[in-house]
Amino acid sequence: MKQIYLKRGKEDSLLRFHPWVFSGAIHHMDSEPEEGELVEILTSNNEYIATGHYQIGSIMVRILTFEHEAINQQFYEKRLQAALDVRYAIGLGDESFRLVHGEGDNLPGLVIDIYDKTAVMQAHSVGMHRDRHIIADALKNVLGDRLENIYYKSETTLPYKAELHQENGFLLGGSTQDIASENGLRFHVDWLHGQKTGFFIDQRENRKLLGEYSKGRKVLNMFCYTGGFSFYAMRGGAKLVHSVDSSQKAIDLTNANVELNFPGDNRHKAFAEDAFKFLDNMPTDYDLIILDPPAFAKHKDALRNALKGYIRLNKKAFEKIQPGGILFTFSCSQAVDKNQFRTAVFSAAAAAGRKVRILHQLHQPADHPINIYHPEGEYLKGLVLYVE
Ligand code: SAH
Repeated sequence: MKQIYLKRGKEDSLLRFHPWVFSGAIHHMDSEPEEGELVEILTSNNEYIATGHYQIGSIMVRILTFEHEAINQQFYEKRLQAALDVRYAIGLGDESFRLVHGEGDNLPGLVIDIYDKTAVMQAHSVGMHRDRHIIADALKNVLGDRLENIYYKSETTLPYKAELHQENGFLLGGSTQDIASENGLRFHVDWLHGQKTGFFIDQRENRKLLGEYSKGRKVLNMFCYTGGFSFYAMRGGAKLVHSVDSSQKAIDLTNANVELNFPGDNRHKAFAEDAFKFLDNMPTDYDLIILDPPAFAKHKDALRNALKGYIRLNKKAFEKIQPGGILFTFSCSQAVDKNQFRTAVFSAAAAAGRKVRILHQLHQPADHPINIYHPEGEYLKGLVLYVE
């Protein structure tokens, strides 16, 4: 295995189990590893610290282990079993859940979501892409008979510069039965073409809470994607639910999902429209609004503009929501921390001149755990607000 030597003093974060090696920390290497190759990290005193996947970029090594051990199928089985034990401890395991959340499960670069009998696996690093077949074998052994399909979906998550020519496709099975369930509600998961692994599992708990606030309300679900919040609102007894997304495909799936759970129910209507346009022209009679936009800032440099975007969006909602209305507002930008987001929402409320109380502070669910040594893993935050 090729070895990478750190500059003096640059081992400190690794000794505290932070799972990344940045390019600036590297003193020299034996010879340039290939993208995705396993490498060993050594201190300036030639002491072993960790083993990980090498990749060209500002994060050069993603650490898999801090112990001298082989990275093989057995290694992945151990990590996957540990991840599954955590999900059982949370009380998950039957419906849809995230089994592997990258660094949060000590597997940087890997995401695995389980939808009933199908696992959707996504590599965010070249190393995980190279290991995909042994990971799939390990997954089969850990999940046993309950697993019938593994769909590999990494076309859009790998660095294009690595020229891997990766294709999405099944590594096991091939079923196109795409209905999964969550808290007893059912939905189609478009794992072939959809965003992320086909569904936003990370909003499960927040959708459940939304359901509890929906009774008798007129609900607007902005950035609805496949309608997750909409069908929870309907089950919660909403008077009316309007779903908005700029993608026609998302709107088609939203309609299909509402129909699947509430056939023939005419409380729901979906609109393929830009959110900002819709908010400008919308009626003012909604008394429950959900704002769950895509990440406005993917990197730190985009932070200022992202914060402006959150202010603009939330201000429009504050201006239009009925007195006594409830606003569920989210940010999934990892680069925006919860205080910055809260400040943006505060600015929006002040600009709209509304009296606002914070009822709940929301976050990612327990199957998207944060490795305590990797605080960067915290990304989803939300506020539930009462607007007087
Ligand atoms: N709330 C959803 C997830 C939202 S993902 C859920 O629970 O599943 C963000 C969505 O915003 C995507 O579906 C994307 O198509 C949509 N989107 C992005 N830009 C938009 C815009 N300007 N107007 C409306 N929708 C937009």
